[in-house]
Amino acid sequence: MNRIGHHATGAISGVGAATYLGLLQPESVLAGVICILAGWHGGVFPDAVEHIKGRYWITHRTVTHWVPLWLALAVWLLIDPYSGSLPYAALTYPALLGFAIGGLTHLVFDWPNPTGIPWLHPWKRHSLRLWKSGRADLILVVLWGAAISSVTITQT
Ligand SMILES: [Zn+2]
Repeated sequence: MNRIGHHATGAISGVGAATYLGLLQPESVLAGVICILAGWHGGVFPDAVEHIKGRYWITHRTVTHWVPLWLALAVWLLIDPYSGSLPYAALTYPALLGFAIGGLTHLVFDWPNPTGIPWLHPWKRHSLRLWKSGRADLILVVLWGAAISSVTITQT
């Protein structure tokens, strides 16, 4: 998936996270928007963090795309009873959760292309080998949007 596709699917996941948190209400619109924007940013973070000024400092799709790391962050945020004690928790918690879910979404959409992602060991990747990166972006964004919309509609 290319950068625009990752942004779009990350933002869509941010909508899902905002829905899960009950933030798509008039009284919590700021937190909802922050959650969606965090998903948008998390959707490209695994690639963006790999290079500084165009030069890679780490091998592409290794630690930055390591599933256990992103999964641990998301699960910790979902089950941690202390998340409410974060500074400015009403805004920081949705930002962190949206970011983590956006990052996980990035991994999901990198998995089908030939390079794959590291599932267990951070330097050993697995690929579904379904299509080359960027080939199915539009249909994936539409399908992801439809899937998250159906969940969002049933919860609101
Ligand atoms: Zn990636």
